Amino acid sequence: MKYQELAARTLIDKPDATYSDQDLMVIWNAIGLAGEAGEVAEIVKKGIFHQHGLDKGKLFKELGDCLWYIAALCTKLGWDMEDVMAYNIDKLRERYPEGYRPEDSLKRVDVKTSEAQNWKDDDPWKYARGEDV
Ligand SMILES: [Mg+2]
Repeated sequence: MKYQELAARTLIDKPDATYSDQDLMVIWNAIGLAGEAGEVAEIVKKGIFHQHGLDKGKLFKELGDCLWYIAALCTKLGWDMEDVMAYNIDKLRERYPEGYRPEDSLKRVDVKTSEAQNWKDDDPWKYARGEDV
């Protein structure tokens, strides 16, 4: 059996739930953010790996597009974007009290122990296989 036929076994014909306008707008903005992040990645990929030179003008504009979608998501979710930014800075202060250091990155003090262990694991496929760790 071809991959496409095997994959189709898990395909659904229509949404298996109803979605509110709020749900749809959050999804819309999340997809928009992913698209804009993809544009950022493409500019960097072409600029560095394809050796086109980094187009900082385009990158600047695309980062703004990312921010627009982040602001939109915050608005739709009733959050102040400043709170999201402050929370992120607090998390980074906890994780990297002396600034970034690889050993602090491995410790992941702000993540549960089992979750942090996943990052240190040398066989990530065991999680995909469903093996209990
Ligand atoms: Mg864009």
